[in-house]
Amino acid sequence: MPQTLFQKVWDRHAVRTLPNGQTQLYVGVHLIHEVTSPQAFEELEARGWPVAAPDRTIATLDHIIPTQGQARPFADLQAEAMTSALERHCRTHGIRLFDLASGAQGIVHVIGPELGLTQPGMTIACGDSHTSTHGAFGAMAFGIGTSQVRDVLASQTLAMSPSRVRRIEVNGHLGPGVTAKDVILTIIGRLGVQGGVGYAYEYAGNAIQRMSMDERMTVCNMSIEGGARLGYVNPDDTTVEYLRGRRFAPAGDAFDRAAAWWRSLASDPGAVYDDVVRFDAAAIAPTVTWGINPGQSVAVDGRLPHPRSVDARDRAGLEEAMAFMDLAPGQPIAGTKIDVAFIGSCTNGRLSDLRESARLVQGRRVAPHVRALVVPGSQAVRAAAEHEGLHEIFTAAGFDWRGAGCSMCLAMNQDRLHGREICASSSNRNFKGRQGSPTGRTLLMSPTMVAAAAIAGEVVDVRSWGGPA
Ligand code: SF4
Repeated sequence: MPQTLFQKVWDRHAVRTLPNGQTQLYVGVHLIHEVTSPQAFEELEARGWPVAAPDRTIATLDHIIPTQGQARPFADLQAEAMTSALERHCRTHGIRLFDLASGAQGIVHVIGPELGLTQPGMTIACGDSHTSTHGAFGAMAFGIGTSQVRDVLASQTLAMSPSRVRRIEVNGHLGPGVTAKDVILTIIGRLGVQGGVGYAYEYAGNAIQRMSMDERMTVCNMSIEGGARLGYVNPDDTTVEYLRGRRFAPAGDAFDRAAAWWRSLASDPGAVYDDVVRFDAAAIAPTVTWGINPGQSVAVDGRLPHPRSVDARDRAGLEEAMAFMDLAPGQPIAGTKIDVAFIGSCTNGRLSDLRESARLVQGRRVAPHVRALVVPGSQAVRAAAEHEGLHEIFTAAGFDWRGAGCSMCLAMNQDRLHGREICASSSNRNFKGRQGSPTGRTLLMSPTMVAAAAIAGEVVDVRSWGGPA
């Protein structure tokens, strides 16, 4: 029987069926960070349990650490306490920690792939919703809660129910200025933030196949925002070449054997899906969210919807979002003034994102009323960007150039919105309060759109914008 990648990977990791009907699934790699692990370790230690597979557990610092002023102890007492706790737990249990001194610290979903820890056919778990990022490699990657982090630490397994599989095909050519971020925002906009509930998303079609691994990661990253349990892309030559020579990837003959196995995991021709949805790449425009969930978006040259145009059951949510954002039905999104510009996060904090943004920023200045920051996704991204001189382009334009971390994606550190500020953000969530101020407002868009908005001081269409040079 032809199988999907989901079925193949699931079957290979199923340990047994549990009495409640769920499957006990082996976890190949468990990624942990300073925010969702302390309580899990405490529960483990209270029961006297060891970590089941310390060699399959990898730790980093990302969520709360400051992106400037990184000398220890941190001025932020909570950041210091969480960092110290993770350091202590890793020492106690023999877990490898990529700390600030390692040169490999960064956002957990950025360092996993760049170190070659993320490989096709793996099951990966992490206490962060956007673990779906790793699906770009043909891995099955689950974002889990703190109690599940404890379970994985204790048993290296998870109790899971299988998902249905929806194939999302994107065919054709993306237009100039249209990015992977626009693709996933468009998918979520059409299918809805609940549309993927109960599903794993398989992204396919020639527009996805042409994407780089960075772009595929951007797409898979936001699967969870569309309600899907996870998202993945079938492994192919692009996947294999990305992994070749990475620190934790197999080497020599073992790499060739692994590559053959990785390729064999791709969904078989004739595999049966629970649903298939198709998108025309050429019809996708640079996309901007106007509301308080990632499904509330519009093409940059479009206008906000009118409450009359949506189902009665969605009307209240739409009106609530517009009232919160202080935007009106029928209003064009272009021209919306911004206060803050943030380029970073596990969605769009990779080297290619910084390169594209720097190209647009070069020779220009951030608008006087805008506070702009670039936060590389990892120390490796930061070092590579500095090697290329990208930091000089950004700082000359008036951007802050920061250390690696999650930063203003969730604003657990000092990088946050104040009051009613509006932020053009390359991150993945625009929920109320997500960027640190309960009344702050977030417009999600691609990093190049953020760069253009930073210079223009308002939302602009990157396709036609010349901008002040
Ligand atoms: S950048 Fe945001 S979404 Fe990504 S791991 Fe950090 S907090 Fe989570």
